[in-house]
Amino acid sequence: MGAYEMPTLFEKIIAGDLPATIVYRDDRVVAFLDIRPAAPTHVLIVPKKVIPTTDDVADEDESLIGHMVIVARNIAREHGIAKSGYRLIINCNPDSGQEVYHLHMHLLGGRPLGPLVQRA
Ligand code: AMP
Repeated sequence: MGAYEMPTLFEKIIAGDLPATIVYRDDRVVAFLDIRPAAPTHVLIVPKKVIPTTDDVADEDESLIGHMVIVARNIAREHGIAKSGYRLIINCNPDSGQEVYHLHMHLLGGRPLGPLVQRA
């Protein structure tokens, strides 16, 4: 047991112990619908490898992180938002609002998404 909750919700989803609407799965990643969608398309792309935050990404994870972007690109095309546009977000640690400490990329689209961040 480290500083983070183990196993996280997303480890349980990856293991099939917690239900989710899976939209893509391969040997390295799982993608599923966000339970509280913030946009018409809101998919989470999650590596199977346990990496709590981007601050924990290792140099050896370079191709995995690239793979997450390729998977997001493909899902965006499948959801018909590649040309209208979308946003990929990875939150890291408290100031970002990260809630689940298992690395994940949000794919958001299907409507104009507004400013990048709330102004202070
Ligand atoms: P973050 O704030 O970047 O850590 O994002 C965590 C995301 O996980 C939020 O958008 C939540 O709505 C989403 N979430 C939490 N629990 C579940 C779940 N059981 N299934 C799908 N998405 C979830």
